[in-house]
Parts: sequence; structure tokens; C-alpha cells
Amino acid sequence: MSKILNEVLAANREYVDNFGDKGDLPMPPGRHFAILTCMDARLDPAKYAGLAEGDAHVIRNAGGRASDDAIRSLVISYKLLGTREWFVIHHTNCGMELFNDEIMRDLLANSLKTASLNEQGLWYDTGEGPGSHEAKHISWLTIKDQEQSVHEDVVRIRTHPLVPRDIPVYGYIYDCKTGRLIEVPSATEAGKAA
Ligand SMILES: [Zn+2]
Repeated sequence: MSKILNEVLAANREYVDNFGDKGDLPMPPGRHFAILTCMDARLDPAKYAGLAEGDAHVIRNAGGRASDDAIRSLVISYKLLGTREWFVIHHTNCGMELFNDEIMRDLLANSLKTASLNEQGLWYDTGEGPGSHEAKHISWLTIKDQEQSVHEDVVRIRTHPLVPRDIPVYGYIYDCKTGRLIEVPSATEAGKAA
């Protein structure tokens, strides 16, 4: 068995031993809010936003972007599970700032194996081919500027035809150096409930 698999299952046994009464939690989030944030391993929304099991929905993807699938989750979160306030939280030093669609397409066209980053901050392939050209069908939703990406995503959610006007959408950047959430005022303004 892989080391990681062993570790995860051991941690889970410990979690089960201390599970307490969490088996009685209702499905709808008790604090009625949702967070859309990046999958970055340094971010722990439960800790940075003070969540316990049952409190809130956390939707994560690369960049914390308001992709069609993220919006699908948010609409379900509100429509069926009663959340009333949403956060879009991107972060400093996000990996999504280190490439663009063209770079990703070229890398994947060469090889599917893990790529490397050189000292100049340029990606290059060290793994063998073949690669695939399927990547050209995907928008990778990369980020050039965090404030701009938070603003764009809040606007995309705010103006989506399936999102009702009365949900405030807050825009923040998590600072990886301090753990602090920093508001993007233009995003929060754009995300105001009407
Ligand atoms: Zn990120």
C-alpha cells in the first residue's frame, strides 16, 4: 500500500474515533454561506474562515475561479441547500499566475507527465511523450492579476442568470504570507445584493 494511502487511512481512523455527534448534522450548511476558493495546498478554508463540519459549503478548484462547474455548485448551494452569502477568495502567489492557455497547451502537446519550472519561471517538459492536443479545447482560467480575477469572478457570479439578486458576493484575496483575508473592494461592491 502506498505511504500516503496508509497515512490517510490511519488519520481517518483517528478522526472516526473522535467523530462525536457529527453524524447527526443536517445536510444544509448551518451558517448558510459558501466559499469559492483555490485548491492551493496552503489554503485551509476551515481554518482561515473558522469553519466546523456542517457550517458552510466550500467549493474549490484551480484558482478558485467562477467556472461553469463552480457556478453549478453555487446555484445548488443556494437553491436547494439554503446558503445566503457567498465569498470568492483567490490568493497571493497562486500557481494560476505562472502559465497561460498557450503554455499549458504546448506542454500537454509534448507530454502528459509532470513539467518543471526553470529559474526564469518558465515551464518546460522533462517527461516523455506522447502528449495530447485535447488541451486546446479547455480554457484553463489562468490569472494575470489577483484583484482583477476576483473582480471578474464576482461579476460573473453576480450577473449569472441563475443567481438571484439578493445574495451578496464578497471578493477577497488570502495572503499566503500572513493568513489574512484582504478585501477587493471593487469586487465586493460589484457583488452587492440588490
Ligand atoms: Zn491558487
